[in-house]
Amino acid sequence: MDLKKFVELQYMKHDKLVRLQEKRLRKIIRFAYENTELYRKKLKSANLTPNDIRTLEDLRKMPFSSKEDIVKDPFAAVADKNDLFKLHTTSGTSGKGETIVFFTRNDWDHYVMQNARCLLSAGFTKDDIVYNSTPYGMFFAGQVLHDGVEAIGGFVIPASTLKTGAAHINYIKNPFFKPTAFIGLPQYFLRWGLWWQKNGGNPRESTLKKAYVLGEPVPDPVRKKIEDTWDVDCRIGYGLSEIGASAECEEKNGFHWCEDEVIVEVVDPKTGEPVEDGQEGELVYTTLTKTGTLAIRYKSGDKSAILGRDCSCGRTHAKLQLIQTRLDDLMKVKGTLVSPYTIEDIMFSQNIEGFLAVIDKESDFDVIRIYVKASETDDLKDRIITDFKTKTKFSPSFIKFVKELPQIGRKGKRVVDLRKASPLNEIVKEYEKKTSG
Ligand SMILES: [Zn+2]
Repeated sequence: MDLKKFVELQYMKHDKLVRLQEKRLRKIIRFAYENTELYRKKLKSANLTPNDIRTLEDLRKMPFSSKEDIVKDPFAAVADKNDLFKLHTTSGTSGKGETIVFFTRNDWDHYVMQNARCLLSAGFTKDDIVYNSTPYGMFFAGQVLHDGVEAIGGFVIPASTLKTGAAHINYIKNPFFKPTAFIGLPQYFLRWGLWWQKNGGNPRESTLKKAYVLGEPVPDPVRKKIEDTWDVDCRIGYGLSEIGASAECEEKNGFHWCEDEVIVEVVDPKTGEPVEDGQEGELVYTTLTKTGTLAIRYKSGDKSAILGRDCSCGRTHAKLQLIQTRLDDLMKVKGTLVSPYTIEDIMFSQNIEGFLAVIDKESDFDVIRIYVKASETDDLKDRIITDFKTKTKFSPSFIKFVKELPQIGRKGKRVVDLRKASPLNEIVKEYEKKTSG
């Protein structure tokens, strides 16, 4: 695939883009109808044939699909069953089980090109030496970003298997490596920088000048803290293994979705009706260029809004508001709906190294316990309580200052709801028991 041509597609005029999307849509709907059990059933259940879906408007007649459909029978959503060459999975931490996504070679090539485009959008160039700390393996992001760096002509250091922050810092400061750009989870990058600072180093003097972070929502205070700690330009990426990838441009206020590859709709999560641009709703995706695992009107559970299509960077693909929460992650605490993002926002606005928030029930009442990795001061404690009261309408039942925090799950969860069953709860319970002694 020709990267230059692929990149140019991001700048095409809107009417031309819609024509391209509709042409691809007609093809993929027919292909899905003829080759997948899942989407044939969905079309039939709505009394539709492929001929009924010819335009973006028509697409709204199609019933939604979801993660549950793919978890239940991963093969039911696969069209080109004879041409598959690999699979990746997403973590099953949302409690809905693991999603298995199958790829043809061509699917993967498209993903690589999307990621190459994301990296260029995030300011990476062919001259960059990229420190890729994103996990390789079942999780697709490490490999696809590795291939993406290669596609833009950059140099990549595959650093995901190192176990500790100290080991990463050793590589980052290795004079034979001299990485100029970082890819990885924001919280780890920040944690490693703070660890290095504490141990007498200065991350601002490292050779890193830019960072592309992904895998979790990044509250503004976290981005700012990363940029201050490391002296880098930090841009945010967003992707789903079932769908594809997108990234921020130099404006750093939302990411450009790859509309030539995937149709994005924003719908009211309750009624399923489309909402106006600028309004928040659930993101619904239809993949146009894949033939392995297809996603058609796939409800993502991610909440966002289309901010517009006329960005100063020149890209014409829809710009989406940064993901602040997954609808699945919203928690009801003391009668108030709260997102883990809000808690992260509160905590990282303080001068702390990290935290763990545990939501639990004590004699039928919701409680929230906070463990903070920072030097203890009354002032800091007061600020956390005040911020909680203002932003969530409730306050923590206790705040404890600690030296260590546990590693919870692949992505390092910081907000854990013990009221919901999860295999990760045991780690938290163990930690709390140890810390109370
Ligand atoms: Zn832009």
